Order: sequence, then structure tokens, then C-alpha cells
Amino acid sequence: MKSFQITLDQLTKAAGLMGLNKSTLAEIKKPDRVLTKKISVKMDNGKVKKFEAYRVQFNNARGPYKGGIRYHPEADLDEVKTLALIMAIKCAVADLPMGGGKGGVKVKPKDLSERELEELSRAWIRAFKKYIGPDKDVPAPDLYTNPMIMAWMADEYSKLVGKKTLAVITGKPLDKGGSEGRDTSTAQGGYYVLEEAIKKLGLKLKGSKVVVQGFGNAGFNIAELLYKAGAKMIGLSDSQGGIKALSGRSMNPARVMKTKKEQGKIHACYCLGAVCDCEHYQRVTNKQLLEIETDILVLAALENQIIKKNVGKAKAKIILELANGGIDPTVDQILEDKNIVVLPDVLANAGGVTVSYFEWLQNRKKEHWTEKEVFVKLKKIMRDNFGEVWQRKERYKTTARTAAFILGLERIVKAMKR
Ligand code: NAD
Repeated sequence: MKSFQITLDQLTKAAGLMGLNKSTLAEIKKPDRVLTKKISVKMDNGKVKKFEAYRVQFNNARGPYKGGIRYHPEADLDEVKTLALIMAIKCAVADLPMGGGKGGVKVKPKDLSERELEELSRAWIRAFKKYIGPDKDVPAPDLYTNPMIMAWMADEYSKLVGKKTLAVITGKPLDKGGSEGRDTSTAQGGYYVLEEAIKKLGLKLKGSKVVVQGFGNAGFNIAELLYKAGAKMIGLSDSQGGIKALSGRSMNPARVMKTKKEQGKIHACYCLGAVCDCEHYQRVTNKQLLEIETDILVLAALENQIIKKNVGKAKAKIILELANGGIDPTVDQILEDKNIVVLPDVLANAGGVTVSYFEWLQNRKKEHWTEKEVFVKLKKIMRDNFGEVWQRKERYKTTARTAAFILGLERIVKAMKR
């Protein structure tokens, strides 16, 4: 089944439980705008190449559309529509005054030179200029787009409207209007949600066993936070495989990152410089990593990692879904029946979009908040919304994902009635 249909089915399930009327649900399920354009780039060889570009806008009842732009050879409209709808729900779950949006370009960015990449990014803005703006639609980075690309885009928009307009886009570099804390915000937000869940379940973070799949921005940063909080890091992995600590040992993520940088992989035993311990640490595949007996499993890599095929082997008490769609939602109920608490993506990884929203606010108010201020505000939002989701989970006797969808829908419907 296509991912858009799966997400619509989740909405239908949540709407059914909360008793939402059919016409309101039908309205929410329809994107406000689905835009596709061909954008042209003059390549370094002098030829002009056309790329397919997208922007999908979903429900602005709560405020301007908000969501990233991804550059990927397999980007397609079904995927962009799904992600835009999820952004509408995520922004509502985080209680941000924003709607849902997502954009993309079908391109393999690694094949472009820096100049071509800049031209492509500026061309995206020219193509969609009419539909974006600080009060209309505020894009951000996503897969294979980064702060530099956001800076080019903000600059292009500013030139087109004849006025420096930082708030048109978020995820910019710090010296070009970006926010403190944005680079670690997804992990930090996930950490706050996890802290609340642990309290709710009567567990303790200190001494809890943790496995993290994915060792990039989200995965490495949450591993660091958890390790520093006294959790036992017993499994870590990246795209090439993982490493597992044996018999009660723990790994320092910074030390594993050092190995990764020096050797290009994290599974070369457990190394500090040239000294490697291969006796107490074992190489595992990503499949094996997901089956390790642990208290907490963090998914911070790709979508569809826990699926029908391996759900029976999942042994964590809590799964923190930092990766969008890390769990196939059709196995949520199986996890629930196994007493595994899922902290779903729309709640768990909302720290990123929340700090993006903070960036937009700072740009508009011409302010610059310290990292401490950013995280104090982020913590309150993540904790409060965890509480709201948990209340609905108990009230409707459902999974945390459905409870989060109910919360998102309630807030969107309320805004639509205003
Ligand atoms: P990233 O590119 O920085 O890191 C991804 C990591 O996953 C890398 O370490 C890569 O080696 C690893 N990986 C890739 N394939 C793997 C596989 N098969 N098994 C195990 N590891 C694999 O990306 P990121 O920004 O950390 O994002 C990770 C996930 O979190 C994505 O799903 C993303 O959509 C989601 N997310 C990230 C943010 C953010 O602000 N970074 C915000 C919201 C959601």
C-alpha cells in the first residue's frame, strides 16, 4: 500500500475513536495545494537540465505551512504528500501555530557540483515564490538539504521580494539567522519525551540499557545525551552495521564516533585510537541490532525498520521513533500487546520542527535566544505534549500513535472552527 493511504488510514482510525464527523475528516484529508514544477539548471557542461520539483501544502488552519524540502532521486508526489500531512499532524501535536508542508526535488545531489546545487536551490525558490513566505509557507531542510542550501534559498527569496526576509525559511546557518540549538534539537526533544515516558513507567534512565540504530544527527546526539545521563549504551549502528557491548558493558558514543572517523566504520570492535577491544564487543548486523534485549530502542535511521517480519523479535520496553516512519504503523498494535511502549515520530521527533518554529519567531522579532533559552522552551513543549498524548492513550485505550493523531486532529479541528 502507498504511504499516503497508510497515513490516511491512521487518520480515519483516530477520527473514528474521537467521533469526528465525516465531512470534517474529508476536508482534513485533502491537501490545500499540490504543486509540481519543472525547474531548469544550467549544468557545468553548458547544457540545461530539467528537474521535477514539488511543494505540497496541507491545512493552514493553525498557521503558515511548515515542512522541509528533500533532494532525493526517488522523491515522488505520494511521498511528499504523506510527509506534508504528517507535518500538519506533527505541528499540531507540538502545539505550534503552523500547518503542514513538504517539498522536494527529484535529484541525486551528490551528482551536482556546488554551483549547480546552488542554482537548483535558487530555481526552486523562483518556481514556488508565489506560494511561500513568512506568513504563508515556511520551508526547512530535510533529506540531503542543509543550512547552506537554506541560506541560498532565503537570499534568493529576499532578492525577489526586494527585502531581507529571514523568516521565509528555517534551518539557516547561525550567522545567517539560524537558531541556537537547531542542530541537536531533534535528539534533545526526543530525550525530553523519553524522560517523561520513563517516569510514567516507573523506570530509571540511569542504568537503563539502550540500543540506537542510526549514528547521524539524530542518532549520535541522542546516544550522547543518554550516555551522559548514565544510561548503558549496549548497541549502536550506522548504515554499514553495528556494534554490541557484551556482558554489562557500555559504550561511549564519542569514542565510537572517533573510531568511525578514523576507520570509516563503527563496528571495528571498540577502539580508542589504535587500541581496540574485540573481546567484549561484538559486531552485529542492523537486523540483529533490532533484536537485542534492551530497555530502550531508539530508531534514528530509516523508515520501516520494525515491520511485520521482525516485530515478533523486538524486545525493548520503550521504542523512541526519532526516524520518520521507523515503525510500520500496522504493527503498532502488536507492539502494544507485547507491552512495548512506542513513542511515535509525530511526538518523538517534533523537537526539530519546534526549534525551526523558534527560529521563525526569533527572525520575526529580530531576537537571538541562547541555547539555554531554546532548550528551556523546548523542554516545556515536549513534556506538556507527551502528557497530552498519554492522557488520550489512556482515555481511548489505544496506541500512543493513535493518541497523538487524536491530539493533532482535535487541535486542527478547533482551529478550523475559529
Ligand atoms: P543523518 O543522515 O544525519 O543520519 C542517518 C544515519 O542513519 C547515518 O548514521 C546512517 O549511516 C544511518 N543509516 C542509514 N541506513 C541505515 C541502516 N540501514 N541501518 C542503520 N543505520 C542506517 O540523518 P538524521 O538527520 O539523523 O535523520 C535520521 C532520521 O531522523 C530520519 O528518518 C529523519 O527523517 C529523522 N528526523 C531527523 C530530524 C533532524 O532534525 N535531523 C528531524 C526529524 C526527523
